Amino acid sequence: MHTSSTPYTHLLRTYLAPQKGRVALLALLVFASLALALWNPQLIRTFIDSAQERSGLDKLLGAAALFTTLTIVQQLILLVATYISELIGWTATNRLRGDLALHCLKLDLAFHKTHTPGELIERVDGDVNQLARFFSQLVVQLAGNLLLFVGVLVLLWWEGWQIGLAVTLVAVSSIFVIEALRRRMTPRWERFRAAEADLYGFLEERLNGLEDIRASGAVGYTMNRLYHFMRVRWLAMRHVMRLNAWVISLPIWIFGFAYGAAHLASGPLFYSGALTLGSVYLIFYYVNLMEGPLWETLRQVEELQRALASINRIAALFAIQPQIQDGEGVSVPDAPLAVEFDHVSFHYEDDDERVITDLSFQLAPGQVLGLLGRTGSGKSTLSKLLYRFYDPTQGQIRLGDGNGHSFDLRQARRADLRGRIGMVTQEVQIFNTSVRNNLTLFDATISDAQVVDVLEQVGMKPWLDGLADGLETKLGSNSLSAGEAQLLAFARVFLADPGLVILDEASSRLDPATEARVERALNALLQKRTAIIIAHRLSTVQRADAILILEEGRVREYGPRQQLLADSTSRFSQLLQTGLEEVFA
Ligand code: ATP
Ligand code: MG
Repeated sequence: MHTSSTPYTHLLRTYLAPQKGRVALLALLVFASLALALWNPQLIRTFIDSAQERSGLDKLLGAAALFTTLTIVQQLILLVATYISELIGWTATNRLRGDLALHCLKLDLAFHKTHTPGELIERVDGDVNQLARFFSQLVVQLAGNLLLFVGVLVLLWWEGWQIGLAVTLVAVSSIFVIEALRRRMTPRWERFRAAEADLYGFLEERLNGLEDIRASGAVGYTMNRLYHFMRVRWLAMRHVMRLNAWVISLPIWIFGFAYGAAHLASGPLFYSGALTLGSVYLIFYYVNLMEGPLWETLRQVEELQRALASINRIAALFAIQPQIQDGEGVSVPDAPLAVEFDHVSFHYEDDDERVITDLSFQLAPGQVLGLLGRTGSGKSTLSKLLYRFYDPTQGQIRLGDGNGHSFDLRQARRADLRGRIGMVTQEVQIFNTSVRNNLTLFDATISDAQVVDVLEQVGMKPWLDGLADGLETKLGSNSLSAGEAQLLAFARVFLADPGLVILDEASSRLDPATEARVERALNALLQKRTAIIIAHRLSTVQRADAILILEEGRVREYGPRQQLLADSTSRFSQLLQTGLEEVFA
Protein backbone atom coordinates (compact mmCIF):
# COMPACT_ATOMS: atom_id res chain seq x y z
CA MET A 1 0.00 0.00 0.00
CA HIS A 2 1.46 3.36 -0.99
CA THR A 3 0.62 6.29 1.19
CA SER A 4 1.18 9.24 -1.06
CA SER A 5 -1.82 10.97 0.50
CA THR A 6 -3.22 10.61 4.00
CA PRO A 7 -4.20 7.08 4.96
CA TYR A 8 -7.87 8.10 5.10
CA THR A 9 -8.25 9.37 1.59
CA HIS A 10 -6.06 6.57 0.36
CA LEU A 11 -8.31 3.91 1.91
CA LEU A 12 -11.41 5.62 0.63
CA ARG A 13 -10.01 5.84 -2.86
CA THR A 14 -8.75 2.27 -2.96
CA TYR A 15 -11.90 0.65 -1.67
CA LEU A 16 -14.64 2.97 -2.88
CA ALA A 17 -13.36 3.60 -6.40
CA PRO A 18 -14.54 0.17 -7.63
CA GLN A 19 -18.02 1.01 -6.26
CA LYS A 20 -18.31 4.46 -7.79
CA GLY A 21 -21.81 3.84 -9.13
CA ARG A 22 -23.20 2.74 -5.79
CA VAL A 23 -21.61 5.64 -3.95
CA ALA A 24 -23.05 8.13 -6.43
CA LEU A 25 -26.50 6.58 -6.07
CA LEU A 26 -26.23 6.71 -2.30
CA ALA A 27 -25.24 10.36 -2.37
CA LEU A 28 -28.17 11.11 -4.66
CA LEU A 29 -30.64 9.36 -2.35
CA VAL A 30 -29.28 11.05 0.77
CA PHE A 31 -29.55 14.45 -0.84
CA ALA A 32 -33.04 13.72 -2.15
CA SER A 33 -34.23 12.83 1.32
CA LEU A 34 -32.63 16.03 2.61
CA ALA A 35 -34.47 18.14 0.09
CA LEU A 36 -37.72 16.52 1.17
CA ALA A 37 -36.95 17.11 4.84
CA LEU A 38 -36.45 20.79 4.11
CA TRP A 39 -39.54 21.04 1.95
CA ASN A 40 -42.00 19.41 4.38
CA PRO A 41 -42.25 22.28 6.90
CA GLN A 42 -43.08 24.68 4.08
CA LEU A 43 -46.21 22.61 3.51
CA ILE A 44 -47.10 22.83 7.19
CA ARG A 45 -46.77 26.59 7.08
CA THR A 46 -49.15 26.73 4.12
CA PHE A 47 -51.48 24.48 6.08
CA ILE A 48 -51.45 26.65 9.22
CA ASP A 49 -51.74 29.92 7.36
CA SER A 50 -54.58 28.58 5.14
CA ALA A 51 -56.40 27.33 8.23
CA GLN A 52 -56.04 30.71 9.89
CA GLU A 53 -57.36 32.47 6.80
CA ARG A 54 -60.22 29.89 6.67
CA SER A 55 -59.54 29.39 2.95
CA GLY A 56 -61.51 26.21 2.45
CA LEU A 57 -61.25 22.50 3.23
CA ASP A 58 -60.04 21.53 -0.28
CA LYS A 59 -56.83 23.43 0.10
CA LEU A 60 -56.23 21.99 3.57
CA LEU A 61 -56.85 18.44 2.44
CA GLY A 62 -54.60 18.94 -0.58
CA ALA A 63 -51.75 20.16 1.63
CA ALA A 64 -52.26 17.29 4.07
CA ALA A 65 -52.25 14.70 1.27
CA LEU A 66 -49.08 16.14 -0.24
CA PHE A 67 -47.42 16.20 3.18
CA THR A 68 -48.27 12.56 3.83
CA THR A 69 -47.09 11.44 0.40
CA LEU A 70 -43.77 13.23 0.77
CA THR A 71 -43.19 11.67 4.18
CA ILE A 72 -43.79 8.18 2.79
CA VAL A 73 -41.49 8.80 -0.17
CA GLN A 74 -38.83 10.10 2.20
CA GLN A 75 -38.98 6.91 4.26
CA LEU A 76 -38.75 4.75 1.15
CA ILE A 77 -35.70 6.66 0.00
CA LEU A 78 -34.09 6.14 3.40
CA LEU A 79 -34.80 2.42 3.22
CA VAL A 80 -33.06 2.03 -0.15
CA ALA A 81 -30.20 4.27 0.97
CA THR A 82 -29.61 2.11 4.05
CA TYR A 83 -29.50 -1.02 1.92
CA ILE A 84 -27.02 0.46 -0.52
CA SER A 85 -24.80 1.84 2.19
CA GLU A 86 -24.60 -1.54 3.94
CA LEU A 87 -23.69 -3.10 0.61
CA ILE A 88 -20.92 -0.59 0.05
CA GLY A 89 -19.61 -1.01 3.59
CA TRP A 90 -19.48 -4.79 3.49
CA THR A 91 -17.96 -4.96 0.04
CA ALA A 92 -15.23 -2.50 0.98
CA THR A 93 -14.39 -4.02 4.37
CA ASN A 94 -14.35 -7.56 3.05
CA ARG A 95 -11.82 -6.59 0.43
CA LEU A 96 -9.78 -4.71 3.01
CA ARG A 97 -9.89 -7.68 5.39
CA GLY A 98 -8.69 -9.95 2.58
CA ASP A 99 -5.87 -7.59 1.63
CA LEU A 100 -4.73 -7.24 5.24
CA ALA A 101 -4.77 -10.99 5.89
CA LEU A 102 -2.77 -11.59 2.71
CA HIS A 103 -0.31 -8.88 3.69
CA CYS A 104 0.20 -10.50 7.12
CA LEU A 105 0.73 -13.89 5.50
CA LYS A 106 3.48 -12.45 3.36
CA LEU A 107 5.32 -10.96 6.31
CA ASP A 108 8.45 -12.62 7.67
CA LEU A 109 8.43 -15.32 10.29
CA ALA A 110 10.25 -12.84 12.52
CA PHE A 111 7.14 -10.59 12.42
CA HIS A 112 4.85 -13.44 13.39
CA LYS A 113 7.14 -14.41 16.23
CA THR A 114 6.59 -11.00 17.82
CA HIS A 115 2.86 -10.67 17.09
CA THR A 116 0.46 -13.18 18.61
CA PRO A 117 -2.35 -14.57 16.44
CA GLY A 118 -4.89 -12.99 18.81
CA GLU A 119 -3.41 -9.56 18.23
CA LEU A 120 -3.47 -10.06 14.47
CA ILE A 121 -7.09 -11.20 14.55
CA GLU A 122 -7.96 -8.09 16.52
CA ARG A 123 -6.14 -5.95 13.97
CA VAL A 124 -7.35 -7.62 10.83
CA ASP A 125 -10.93 -8.10 11.96
CA GLY A 126 -11.53 -5.70 14.87
CA ASP A 127 -9.99 -2.65 13.29
CA VAL A 128 -11.63 -3.32 9.96
CA ASN A 129 -15.03 -3.75 11.60
CA GLN A 130 -14.73 -0.21 12.87
CA LEU A 131 -14.53 0.91 9.28
CA ALA A 132 -17.74 -0.62 7.96
CA ARG A 133 -19.77 2.50 8.63
CA PHE A 134 -16.88 4.72 7.70
CA PHE A 135 -16.99 3.37 4.18
CA SER A 136 -20.72 3.06 3.85
CA GLN A 137 -22.36 6.05 5.34
CA LEU A 138 -20.13 8.16 7.43
CA VAL A 139 -18.77 10.38 4.74
CA VAL A 140 -21.97 10.70 2.76
CA GLN A 141 -24.06 11.24 5.88
CA LEU A 142 -21.70 13.71 7.42
CA ALA A 143 -21.81 15.68 4.20
CA GLY A 144 -25.59 15.28 4.11
CA ASN A 145 -26.05 16.51 7.66
CA LEU A 146 -23.77 19.41 6.98
CA LEU A 147 -25.88 20.32 3.95
CA LEU A 148 -29.06 20.04 5.99
CA PHE A 149 -27.51 22.36 8.52
CA VAL A 150 -26.59 24.88 5.87
CA GLY A 151 -29.98 24.48 4.19
CA VAL A 152 -31.84 25.24 7.42
CA LEU A 153 -29.65 28.26 8.09
CA VAL A 154 -30.24 29.63 4.59
CA LEU A 155 -33.98 29.21 4.98
CA LEU A 156 -33.87 30.90 8.39
CA TRP A 157 -31.98 33.86 6.90
CA TRP A 158 -34.67 33.94 4.22
CA GLU A 159 -37.37 34.26 6.86
CA GLY A 160 -35.60 37.16 8.59
CA TRP A 161 -31.96 38.13 8.92
CA GLN A 162 -32.22 38.52 12.70
CA ILE A 163 -33.31 34.91 13.11
CA GLY A 164 -30.73 33.69 10.64
CA LEU A 165 -27.95 35.57 12.35
CA ALA A 166 -28.89 34.44 15.86
CA VAL A 167 -29.06 30.74 14.98
CA THR A 168 -25.97 30.92 12.77
CA LEU A 169 -23.90 32.31 15.64
CA VAL A 170 -24.97 29.46 17.89
CA ALA A 171 -24.32 26.87 15.16
CA VAL A 172 -20.89 28.15 14.16
CA SER A 173 -19.64 28.29 17.74
CA SER A 174 -20.90 24.76 18.33
CA ILE A 175 -18.96 23.52 15.31
CA PHE A 176 -15.77 24.97 16.80
CA VAL A 177 -16.41 23.19 20.07
CA ILE A 178 -17.09 19.89 18.32
CA GLU A 179 -13.94 20.21 16.24
CA ALA A 180 -11.85 20.91 19.34
CA LEU A 181 -13.24 17.81 21.05
CA ARG A 182 -12.71 15.73 17.93
CA ARG A 183 -9.01 16.45 17.91
CA ARG A 184 -8.66 15.30 21.49
CA MET A 185 -10.66 12.12 21.09
CA THR A 186 -8.64 10.36 18.36
CA PRO A 187 -5.51 9.60 20.44
CA ARG A 188 -7.68 8.39 23.29
CA TRP A 189 -9.49 5.96 21.01
CA GLU A 190 -6.18 4.82 19.57
CA ARG A 191 -4.91 3.96 23.02
CA PHE A 192 -8.12 2.10 23.75
CA ARG A 193 -7.85 -0.03 20.59
CA ALA A 194 -4.21 -0.84 21.39
CA ALA A 195 -5.18 -1.94 24.90
CA GLU A 196 -7.87 -4.17 23.41
CA ALA A 197 -5.40 -5.78 21.01
CA ASP A 198 -3.03 -6.49 23.91
CA LEU A 199 -5.81 -8.06 25.94
CA TYR A 200 -6.95 -10.33 23.13
CA GLY A 201 -3.39 -11.27 22.23
CA PHE A 202 -2.83 -12.29 25.85
CA LEU A 203 -6.10 -14.23 26.04
CA GLU A 204 -5.43 -16.11 22.83
CA GLU A 205 -1.96 -17.16 23.93
CA ARG A 206 -3.03 -18.26 27.40
CA LEU A 207 -6.07 -20.16 26.18
CA ASN A 208 -3.78 -22.02 23.81
CA GLY A 209 -1.49 -22.98 26.63
CA LEU A 210 -4.27 -23.91 29.03
CA GLU A 211 -2.91 -27.37 29.76
CA ASP A 212 0.59 -26.12 30.46
CA ILE A 213 -0.68 -23.31 32.65
CA ARG A 214 -2.75 -25.67 34.77
CA ALA A 215 -0.02 -28.25 34.95
CA SER A 216 2.62 -25.76 36.03
CA GLY A 217 0.40 -24.07 38.61
CA ALA A 218 0.66 -20.72 36.82
CA VAL A 219 -3.07 -20.04 37.13
CA GLY A 220 -2.66 -17.37 39.79
CA TYR A 221 0.00 -15.54 37.84
CA THR A 222 -2.01 -15.74 34.63
CA MET A 223 -5.14 -14.38 36.31
CA ASN A 224 -3.05 -11.57 37.70
CA ARG A 225 -1.84 -10.66 34.22
CA LEU A 226 -5.41 -10.85 32.96
CA TYR A 227 -6.52 -8.37 35.63
CA HIS A 228 -3.66 -6.15 34.58
CA PHE A 229 -4.64 -6.15 30.90
CA MET A 230 -8.30 -5.68 31.72
CA ARG A 231 -7.44 -2.80 34.01
CA VAL A 232 -5.38 -1.09 31.32
CA ARG A 233 -8.27 -1.46 28.93
CA TRP A 234 -10.71 -0.15 31.48
CA LEU A 235 -8.52 2.87 32.22
CA ALA A 236 -8.25 3.61 28.50
CA MET A 237 -12.03 3.33 28.15
CA ARG A 238 -12.57 5.64 31.12
CA HIS A 239 -10.20 8.13 29.57
CA VAL A 240 -12.31 8.12 26.42
CA MET A 241 -15.62 8.24 28.23
CA ARG A 242 -14.67 11.18 30.40
CA LEU A 243 -14.33 13.34 27.35
CA ASN A 244 -17.30 11.66 25.77
CA ALA A 245 -19.54 12.79 28.63
CA TRP A 246 -18.97 16.35 27.50
CA VAL A 247 -19.60 15.43 23.91
CA ILE A 248 -22.88 13.76 24.80
CA SER A 249 -24.24 16.71 26.74
CA LEU A 250 -23.30 19.13 24.01
CA PRO A 251 -26.59 19.10 22.03
CA ILE A 252 -28.56 19.97 25.16
CA TRP A 253 -26.48 23.10 25.58
CA ILE A 254 -26.49 24.00 21.95
CA PHE A 255 -30.24 23.64 21.56
CA GLY A 256 -30.94 25.58 24.69
CA PHE A 257 -29.06 28.43 23.08
CA ALA A 258 -30.55 27.93 19.63
CA TYR A 259 -34.18 28.00 20.87
CA GLY A 260 -33.40 30.99 23.05
CA ALA A 261 -31.92 32.82 20.09
CA ALA A 262 -34.90 31.93 17.86
CA HIS A 263 -37.34 33.17 20.54
CA LEU A 264 -35.54 36.43 20.99
CA ALA A 265 -35.35 37.10 17.28
CA SER A 266 -38.79 35.95 16.10
CA GLY A 267 -40.96 37.30 18.98
CA PRO A 268 -40.65 41.00 18.04
CA LEU A 269 -41.07 40.19 14.33
CA PHE A 270 -44.36 38.36 15.01
CA TYR A 271 -45.78 41.19 17.10
CA SER A 272 -44.82 43.79 14.50
CA GLY A 273 -46.70 41.66 11.93
CA ALA A 274 -43.62 40.82 9.84
CA LEU A 275 -44.14 37.08 10.47
CA THR A 276 -47.32 35.01 10.20
CA LEU A 277 -48.14 32.36 12.80
CA GLY A 278 -47.27 29.73 10.18
CA SER A 279 -43.84 31.31 9.72
CA VAL A 280 -43.13 31.33 13.46
CA TYR A 281 -44.04 27.66 13.54
CA LEU A 282 -41.81 27.10 10.54
CA ILE A 283 -38.85 28.72 12.33
CA PHE A 284 -39.18 26.50 15.36
CA TYR A 285 -39.67 23.49 13.16
CA TYR A 286 -36.43 24.28 11.37
CA VAL A 287 -34.48 24.76 14.56
CA ASN A 288 -35.93 21.46 15.71
CA LEU A 289 -34.93 19.92 12.39
CA MET A 290 -31.30 20.75 13.14
CA GLU A 291 -31.39 18.78 16.36
CA GLY A 292 -31.49 15.33 14.74
CA PRO A 293 -28.51 15.96 12.44
CA LEU A 294 -26.54 17.51 15.27
CA TRP A 295 -26.98 14.46 17.49
CA GLU A 296 -26.20 12.30 14.50
CA THR A 297 -23.13 14.32 13.63
CA LEU A 298 -21.83 14.02 17.17
CA ARG A 299 -22.32 10.28 17.15
CA GLN A 300 -20.73 10.10 13.74
CA VAL A 301 -17.83 12.20 14.86
CA GLU A 302 -17.28 9.70 17.66
CA GLU A 303 -17.44 6.90 15.14
CA LEU A 304 -15.08 8.80 12.93
CA GLN A 305 -12.62 9.01 15.83
CA ARG A 306 -12.68 5.28 16.19
CA ALA A 307 -12.47 4.80 12.46
CA LEU A 308 -9.51 7.17 12.18
CA ALA A 309 -7.74 5.43 15.05
CA SER A 310 -8.30 2.10 13.29
CA ILE A 311 -7.19 3.50 9.96
CA ASN A 312 -3.93 4.67 11.52
CA ARG A 313 -3.32 1.21 12.90
CA ILE A 314 -4.23 -0.46 9.61
CA ALA A 315 -1.92 1.87 7.71
CA ALA A 316 0.85 1.07 10.18
CA LEU A 317 0.32 -2.64 9.57
CA PHE A 318 0.34 -2.17 5.80
CA ALA A 319 3.55 -0.17 6.13
CA ILE A 320 5.46 -3.11 7.58
CA GLN A 321 7.33 -4.72 4.72
CA PRO A 322 8.89 -8.18 4.69
CA GLN A 323 12.69 -8.13 4.91
CA ILE A 324 12.85 -11.26 2.86
CA GLN A 325 12.04 -10.47 -0.74
CA ASP A 326 11.80 -12.60 -3.86
CA GLY A 327 14.84 -12.70 -6.09
CA GLU A 328 14.80 -12.14 -9.85
CA GLY A 329 13.51 -15.68 -10.22
CA VAL A 330 16.18 -18.09 -11.44
CA SER A 331 14.67 -21.46 -12.22
CA VAL A 332 15.08 -24.13 -9.56
CA PRO A 333 16.12 -27.44 -11.24
CA ASP A 334 13.42 -30.08 -11.41
CA ALA A 335 15.76 -32.82 -10.10
CA PRO A 336 17.58 -33.78 -6.89
CA LEU A 337 19.28 -30.61 -5.69
CA ALA A 338 22.90 -29.93 -4.71
CA VAL A 339 23.25 -27.89 -1.53
CA GLU A 340 26.16 -25.70 -0.53
CA PHE A 341 26.61 -23.66 2.65
CA ASP A 342 29.40 -21.16 2.11
CA HIS A 343 30.68 -19.59 5.36
CA VAL A 344 27.17 -19.01 6.63
CA SER A 345 26.63 -17.08 9.87
CA PHE A 346 23.30 -16.14 11.34
CA HIS A 347 21.71 -14.58 14.40
CA TYR A 348 18.07 -13.87 15.16
CA GLU A 349 17.08 -10.25 14.88
CA ASP A 350 16.28 -9.65 18.53
CA ASP A 351 19.56 -10.86 19.99
CA ASP A 352 23.12 -10.40 18.81
CA GLU A 353 24.40 -13.79 19.83
CA ARG A 354 25.18 -15.92 16.81
CA VAL A 355 23.12 -19.06 16.44
CA ILE A 356 25.19 -20.27 13.48
CA THR A 357 28.82 -19.33 12.94
CA ASP A 358 30.85 -19.77 9.76
CA LEU A 359 29.14 -22.94 8.63
CA SER A 360 30.31 -24.58 5.38
CA PHE A 361 29.40 -27.89 3.82
CA GLN A 362 28.46 -29.38 0.47
CA LEU A 363 25.96 -31.98 -0.48
CA ALA A 364 25.77 -33.64 -3.92
CA PRO A 365 22.37 -34.38 -5.51
CA GLY A 366 20.78 -37.47 -3.98
CA GLN A 367 23.06 -37.51 -0.93
CA VAL A 368 21.81 -37.69 2.64
CA LEU A 369 23.34 -35.50 5.34
CA GLY A 370 22.86 -36.55 8.95
CA LEU A 371 22.82 -33.49 11.17
CA LEU A 372 23.55 -34.07 14.84
CA GLY A 373 23.90 -31.78 17.79
CA ARG A 374 22.66 -31.00 21.25
CA THR A 375 19.40 -29.22 21.79
CA GLY A 376 19.77 -25.53 20.93
CA SER A 377 22.84 -26.09 18.75
CA GLY A 378 21.12 -24.52 15.73
CA LYS A 379 19.84 -27.51 13.76
CA SER A 380 16.28 -26.29 13.22
CA THR A 381 17.62 -22.82 12.50
CA LEU A 382 19.66 -24.27 9.65
CA SER A 383 16.55 -25.70 8.05
CA LYS A 384 14.74 -22.39 8.42
CA LEU A 385 17.59 -20.73 6.53
CA LEU A 386 17.23 -23.19 3.68
CA TYR A 387 13.51 -22.52 3.50
CA ARG A 388 14.24 -18.79 3.55
CA PHE A 389 12.21 -18.04 6.64
CA TYR A 390 15.33 -16.06 7.47
CA ASP A 391 18.37 -15.00 5.46
CA PRO A 392 21.97 -15.58 6.60
CA THR A 393 23.59 -12.52 8.10
CA GLN A 394 26.87 -13.53 6.43
CA GLY A 395 27.89 -15.93 3.70
CA GLN A 396 25.54 -17.59 1.27
CA ILE A 397 23.52 -20.73 0.70
CA ARG A 398 23.53 -22.11 -2.82
CA LEU A 399 21.41 -24.70 -4.57
CA GLY A 400 22.26 -26.32 -7.88
CA ASP A 401 21.87 -29.27 -10.21
CA GLY A 402 25.32 -30.70 -9.38
CA ASN A 403 26.63 -30.06 -12.91
CA GLY A 404 28.10 -26.65 -12.36
CA HIS A 405 24.86 -24.68 -12.44
CA SER A 406 24.14 -23.18 -9.04
CA PHE A 407 22.51 -20.07 -7.59
CA ASP A 408 22.19 -18.18 -4.31
CA LEU A 409 18.85 -18.83 -2.57
CA ARG A 410 18.18 -15.11 -2.67
CA GLN A 411 18.10 -15.16 -6.47
CA ALA A 412 15.04 -17.43 -6.60
CA ARG A 413 11.42 -16.66 -5.93
CA ARG A 414 10.30 -17.98 -2.56
CA ALA A 415 7.35 -19.85 -4.02
CA ASP A 416 9.62 -21.68 -6.51
CA LEU A 417 12.08 -22.48 -3.75
CA ARG A 418 9.52 -23.77 -1.30
CA GLY A 419 7.91 -25.79 -4.05
CA ARG A 420 11.20 -27.68 -4.52
CA ILE A 421 12.10 -28.09 -0.84
CA GLY A 422 10.04 -30.35 1.36
CA MET A 423 10.16 -29.87 5.09
CA VAL A 424 9.01 -32.07 7.92
CA THR A 425 9.30 -30.10 11.14
CA GLN A 426 9.56 -31.31 14.72
CA GLU A 427 5.95 -30.47 15.38
CA VAL A 428 3.66 -31.47 12.56
CA GLN A 429 0.74 -29.11 12.19
CA ILE A 430 -2.51 -30.96 11.60
CA PHE A 431 -5.33 -28.71 10.43
CA ASN A 432 -8.94 -28.97 11.48
CA THR A 433 -10.13 -30.22 8.11
CA SER A 434 -10.40 -33.41 6.05
CA VAL A 435 -7.58 -35.91 5.62
CA ARG A 436 -7.43 -34.97 1.97
CA ASN A 437 -6.97 -31.26 2.68
CA ASN A 438 -4.43 -32.04 5.35
CA LEU A 439 -2.33 -33.89 2.81
CA THR A 440 -2.77 -31.78 -0.30
CA LEU A 441 -2.80 -28.55 1.72
CA PHE A 442 -5.91 -27.47 -0.18
CA ASP A 443 -4.48 -28.14 -3.64
CA ALA A 444 -7.55 -29.26 -5.60
CA THR A 445 -5.51 -30.36 -8.63
CA ILE A 446 -4.21 -33.44 -6.80
CA SER A 447 -6.46 -36.42 -7.44
CA ASP A 448 -7.85 -38.68 -4.72
CA ALA A 449 -6.09 -41.64 -6.35
CA GLN A 450 -2.74 -39.88 -5.95
CA VAL A 451 -3.45 -39.21 -2.28
CA VAL A 452 -4.41 -42.81 -1.60
CA ASP A 453 -1.33 -44.01 -3.50
CA VAL A 454 0.94 -41.84 -1.36
CA LEU A 455 -0.69 -43.03 1.87
CA GLU A 456 0.00 -46.55 0.69
CA GLN A 457 3.67 -45.67 0.17
CA VAL A 458 4.08 -44.31 3.70
CA GLY A 459 2.25 -47.30 5.15
CA MET A 460 -0.81 -45.41 6.26
CA LYS A 461 -3.28 -47.29 4.07
CA PRO A 462 -4.56 -49.47 6.96
CA TRP A 463 -5.11 -46.32 8.98
CA LEU A 464 -7.03 -44.74 6.10
CA ASP A 465 -9.17 -47.86 5.69
CA GLY A 466 -10.10 -47.63 9.35
CA LEU A 467 -11.53 -44.12 8.95
CA ALA A 468 -15.29 -43.77 8.73
CA ASP A 469 -15.38 -41.27 5.84
CA GLY A 470 -12.07 -42.14 4.20
CA LEU A 471 -10.29 -39.10 2.78
CA GLU A 472 -13.17 -36.86 3.81
CA THR A 473 -12.80 -37.69 7.51
CA LYS A 474 -12.23 -34.55 9.54
CA LEU A 475 -9.03 -34.48 11.58
CA GLY A 476 -8.74 -32.59 14.84
CA SER A 477 -5.56 -30.78 15.76
CA ASN A 478 -4.61 -33.47 18.28
CA SER A 479 -6.43 -36.57 17.13
CA LEU A 480 -3.27 -38.28 15.85
CA SER A 481 -0.34 -39.95 17.56
CA ALA A 482 3.13 -38.46 17.07
CA GLY A 483 4.08 -41.30 14.74
CA GLU A 484 0.94 -40.97 12.62
CA ALA A 485 1.42 -37.22 12.37
CA GLN A 486 4.98 -37.79 11.20
CA LEU A 487 3.87 -40.27 8.54
CA LEU A 488 1.21 -37.85 7.30
CA ALA A 489 3.91 -35.20 7.06
CA PHE A 490 5.95 -37.59 4.92
CA ALA A 491 2.91 -38.08 2.72
CA ARG A 492 2.68 -34.30 2.27
CA VAL A 493 6.27 -34.21 1.08
CA PHE A 494 5.63 -37.09 -1.33
CA LEU A 495 2.75 -35.22 -2.89
CA ALA A 496 4.83 -32.09 -3.32
CA ASP A 497 7.64 -34.22 -4.84
CA PRO A 498 10.54 -31.91 -3.95
CA GLY A 499 14.22 -32.21 -4.93
CA LEU A 500 15.44 -31.60 -1.39
CA VAL A 501 13.93 -32.89 1.83
CA ILE A 502 14.66 -31.47 5.24
CA LEU A 503 13.56 -33.75 7.98
CA ASP A 504 13.60 -32.37 11.49
CA GLU A 505 13.01 -35.55 13.38
CA ALA A 506 10.71 -35.40 16.36
CA SER A 507 12.81 -36.00 19.46
CA SER A 508 10.02 -37.91 21.16
CA ARG A 509 10.45 -41.67 21.02
CA LEU A 510 8.23 -43.82 18.89
CA ASP A 511 7.11 -47.33 19.77
CA PRO A 512 8.97 -50.07 17.83
CA ALA A 513 6.05 -50.84 15.49
CA THR A 514 5.60 -47.19 14.53
CA GLU A 515 9.34 -46.77 14.25
CA ALA A 516 9.48 -49.58 11.74
CA ARG A 517 6.73 -47.93 9.70
CA VAL A 518 8.55 -44.59 9.81
CA GLU A 519 11.73 -46.34 8.67
CA ARG A 520 10.03 -47.90 5.68
CA ALA A 521 8.36 -44.64 4.72
CA LEU A 522 11.66 -42.83 5.05
CA ASN A 523 13.33 -45.29 2.67
CA ALA A 524 10.72 -44.54 0.07
CA LEU A 525 10.86 -40.81 0.74
CA LEU A 526 14.60 -40.51 0.24
CA GLN A 527 14.62 -42.23 -3.14
CA LYS A 528 16.15 -39.86 -5.69
CA ARG A 529 16.10 -36.88 -3.39
CA THR A 530 18.77 -34.93 -1.57
CA ALA A 531 18.10 -34.92 2.15
CA ILE A 532 19.18 -33.21 5.32
CA ILE A 533 18.06 -35.21 8.28
CA ILE A 534 18.23 -33.75 11.73
CA ALA A 535 18.53 -37.03 13.52
CA HIS A 536 17.70 -38.04 17.03
CA ARG A 537 17.79 -41.80 16.43
CA LEU A 538 20.61 -44.16 15.51
CA SER A 539 18.63 -45.90 12.80
CA THR A 540 18.15 -42.62 10.97
CA VAL A 541 21.83 -41.72 11.11
CA GLN A 542 22.75 -45.02 9.51
CA ARG A 543 21.32 -44.06 6.17
CA ALA A 544 23.34 -40.82 5.97
CA ASP A 545 26.18 -40.48 3.45
CA ALA A 546 27.77 -37.63 5.38
CA ILE A 547 27.62 -36.56 9.00
CA LEU A 548 27.75 -33.04 10.38
CA ILE A 549 27.91 -32.46 14.11
CA LEU A 550 26.96 -28.97 15.26
CA GLU A 551 28.07 -27.53 18.56
CA GLU A 552 26.81 -24.10 19.53
CA GLY A 553 26.29 -23.27 15.89
CA ARG A 554 29.81 -24.28 14.78
CA VAL A 555 30.92 -27.36 12.88
CA ARG A 556 32.37 -29.76 15.42
CA GLU A 557 32.87 -32.56 12.93
CA TYR A 558 32.04 -33.04 9.26
CA GLY A 559 32.86 -35.88 6.86
CA PRO A 560 31.67 -39.01 5.06
CA ARG A 561 29.93 -41.32 7.51
CA GLN A 562 32.04 -44.38 6.66
CA GLN A 563 35.25 -42.45 7.22
CA LEU A 564 34.12 -41.08 10.59
CA LEU A 565 32.93 -44.50 11.58
CA ALA A 566 36.31 -46.04 10.77
CA ASP A 567 38.13 -43.44 12.87
CA SER A 568 37.70 -44.51 16.47
CA THR A 569 38.86 -41.09 17.75
CA SER A 570 36.09 -39.25 15.90
CA ARG A 571 33.30 -37.61 17.89
CA PHE A 572 30.83 -39.57 15.78
CA SER A 573 32.28 -42.95 16.78
CA GLN A 574 32.24 -41.88 20.41
CA LEU A 575 28.64 -40.81 20.11
CA LEU A 576 27.65 -44.14 18.65
CA GLN A 577 29.28 -45.91 21.54
CA THR A 578 27.52 -43.79 24.14
CA GLY A 579 24.26 -44.06 22.23
CA LEU A 580 22.71 -41.16 20.37
CA GLU A 581 19.48 -41.32 22.29
CA GLU A 582 21.28 -40.78 25.60
CA VAL A 583 23.29 -37.82 24.37
CA PHE A 584 20.87 -35.89 22.15
CA ALA A 585 17.35 -36.95 22.89
P1 ATP B 1 16.49 -28.96 19.24
O1 ATP B 1 17.34 -30.15 19.11
O2 ATP B 1 16.02 -28.79 20.65
O3 ATP B 1 15.38 -28.90 18.27
P2 ATP B 1 17.94 -27.03 17.63
O4 ATP B 1 19.34 -27.44 17.38
O5 ATP B 1 16.95 -27.27 16.57
O6 ATP B 1 17.44 -27.66 19.01
P3 ATP B 1 17.38 -24.25 17.21
O7 ATP B 1 15.89 -24.32 17.23
O8 ATP B 1 18.01 -24.11 15.89
O9 ATP B 1 18.00 -25.47 18.00
O10 ATP B 1 17.84 -23.03 18.12
C1 ATP B 1 19.16 -22.59 18.18
C2 ATP B 1 19.23 -21.38 19.10
O11 ATP B 1 18.51 -20.31 18.55
C3 ATP B 1 18.67 -21.64 20.48
O12 ATP B 1 19.54 -21.04 21.41
C4 ATP B 1 17.34 -20.92 20.46
O13 ATP B 1 17.05 -20.40 21.73
C5 ATP B 1 17.56 -19.82 19.47
N1 ATP B 1 16.31 -19.52 18.71
C6 ATP B 1 15.56 -20.40 18.04
N2 ATP B 1 14.52 -19.78 17.43
C7 ATP B 1 14.63 -18.47 17.75
C8 ATP B 1 13.86 -17.30 17.43
N3 ATP B 1 12.79 -17.35 16.64
N4 ATP B 1 14.26 -16.12 17.95
C9 ATP B 1 15.37 -16.05 18.72
N5 ATP B 1 16.14 -17.10 19.05
C10 ATP B 1 15.78 -18.31 18.58
MG1 MG C 1 15.09 -28.15 16.57
